[in-house]
Amino acid sequence: MEELKKFIRNIPDFPKPGIQFKDITTLFQNRWGLQRCFDILEEQYRYQQIDKIAGIEARGFIMGAALADRLNCGFVLIRKKGKLPGKTISESYELEYGTDELEIHVDAINPGEKVLIVDDLLATGGTLKAAADLIKKVGGEIIGLSCIIELLGLNGREKLGQLPFHSLVTYDEA
Ligand code: AMP
Repeated sequence: MEELKKFIRNIPDFPKPGIQFKDITTLFQNRWGLQRCFDILEEQYRYQQIDKIAGIEARGFIMGAALADRLNCGFVLIRKKGKLPGKTISESYELEYGTDELEIHVDAINPGEKVLIVDDLLATGGTLKAAADLIKKVGGEIIGLSCIIELLGLNGREKLGQLPFHSLVTYDEA
């Protein structure tokens, strides 16, 4: 899986000084990289019962929708505040400076449905934790959380507690 790293571009000091931004546009724009990425994810989850995949705006949409199609399950959008048109519930989470909010449609998940949550990258874990709390609030059962990239230096997994987390590539840095 580490072979995927050669397609992931590091952009220093984006969006602000000190951040090493992991750019997956270069992974997705490569035919082999894109296919390899979804082959690994499909293999990881194909034997688990999954009713819905929930993707977090915006890169989680790309991952989640493509994987949902491969695994033959539904796709649910978790969006930044104010974007979803129907009745929503929201969950706020900590950013480096201040807070942000994620929302989901209240009727996106049927009670007891098994849900896999996906995003591009795990850093502090705040985003995935907020998404997991939303899924629980609307009655879903979380069977896993998945990211392409995990930044080990920020201990994001700890914030996720017992929820099963899977990543394709890891970086030691924060
Ligand atoms: P966190 O909530 O701290 O786990 O941050 C995860 C979210 O922020 C993901 O949706 C990522 O897209 C984005 N993010 C955080 N750090 C980076 C980074 N170094 N490179 C790319 N995206 C990042």
